[in-house]
Amino acid sequence: MSTPGRPKSEFRSAQHEAGPVGPVIPLVPESQAAVATAERPVIKQRGQREVFCGLTGIVWLHRKIQDAFFLVVGSRTCAHLIQSAAGVMIFAEPRFATAIIDERDLAGLADANEELDRVVTRLLERRPDIRMLFLVGSCPSEVIKLDLSRAAARLSTRFSPAVRILNYSGSGIETTFTQGEDACLASLVPQLPATPEQNLLVVGAMADVVEDQFRRLFDELGIGPVHFLPPRQSTDLPPVGPHTQLLMAQPFLGDTLRALEARGATRLVAPFPFGAEGTTEWLRAAWLAWGRDRSEPTRFANVVGPKRERAARSLARHRLELQGKRVFFFPDSQLEVPLARFLARELGMQLVEVGSPYLHRVMLDRELALLPEGTQLSEGQDVERQLDRCRAARPDIVVCGLGLANPLEAEGLTTKWSIELVFSPVHGFEQAADLAALFTRPLDRRARLVA
Ligand code: SF4
Repeated sequence: MSTPGRPKSEFRSAQHEAGPVGPVIPLVPESQAAVATAERPVIKQRGQREVFCGLTGIVWLHRKIQDAFFLVVGSRTCAHLIQSAAGVMIFAEPRFATAIIDERDLAGLADANEELDRVVTRLLERRPDIRMLFLVGSCPSEVIKLDLSRAAARLSTRFSPAVRILNYSGSGIETTFTQGEDACLASLVPQLPATPEQNLLVVGAMADVVEDQFRRLFDELGIGPVHFLPPRQSTDLPPVGPHTQLLMAQPFLGDTLRALEARGATRLVAPFPFGAEGTTEWLRAAWLAWGRDRSEPTRFANVVGPKRERAARSLARHRLELQGKRVFFFPDSQLEVPLARFLARELGMQLVEVGSPYLHRVMLDRELALLPEGTQLSEGQDVERQLDRCRAARPDIVVCGLGLANPLEAEGLTTKWSIELVFSPVHGFEQAADLAALFTRPLDRRARLVA
């Protein structure tokens, strides 16, 4: 892999730094990387899809932004979806709910706007702890053309500055479940304060414990100020401006990236921080952007090297189990390409097919270039045809959504729920083995069942 503007000698030293701890990203010149991406075989699919909708994102976002409330404006189906995706949770003070659109609203017999205002007023009077309220659109609210952006503006005039009221769509029409986070974060971007100063913005929800690990690493590397989007408190929105460098932590945030770029920020070209290799290169992108390699050339190796080595060692026993095993990805979370890169390069797995709902070629530029030559990619979904390919290939493990997992298990295939890969802390060095374990566990379970 290459990094723009970096001389060749530095690439060699970067490769050397990684030492004996595992493969480093090979030095692919810029032009070659582009060719590698363009030449990969991609099956384009436009058929029936099996995915969850963007409301699912509320499950992890409401834990992340701790003073926010997510009010879905939807049907009983929407309420069931988030309740079951979130598991059976009983809160003293829940942080998401559904304002149910019933038959009277659908038939136009009631003024849905008036009812929504009533629900929001009641909620905010009862819950003074809420500082940010998201009105989350759904298929039903879109069908009756309820304009939630106008509702948010109208309610904001009443409740700001105590409560910020925003809106986004979590509707299932033509979306995948991780796009809920993208829509939510994109709705936050216009609210971010402006800054003329250089700062690093890490974009994408990660578990607090992972965020703390990265914060310590950036501190040790002398990189800062560093902010995270989404923030833990809505009152702590990160600043953005023409000297903001973006380090994307999730590959499904295309709209958020565009909105941040429109505010002048620049994306750092990097793979995603999954596994020892991805995390190293992700951190290195910030390190180089800060110009730290010129003033302190050995600091990166001193800080990152031991952590990378520990992560690579923690992967060794998983590699023993996964090496040579064949994996098939159905399109679901948009994490498929980075995960496939991790499984192939750090664990020796063979990629049968890597399906993704969208191949965001800019966001995935480094990732696509790192996949083994000839990897079969597919974009979009035509579920029946893809099932046929999967059955014919009989992979050792299938990564897919919940809807496909049970039928495939019944056919004797081993599956991994892709949604678990989004819910679990899997970024960074210290989680590399946990990420690998998400793939070894189903294989162990299957082996025990067979025995
Ligand atoms: S938003 Fe649409 S797809 Fe999602 S639960 Fe509601 S009705 Fe179903």
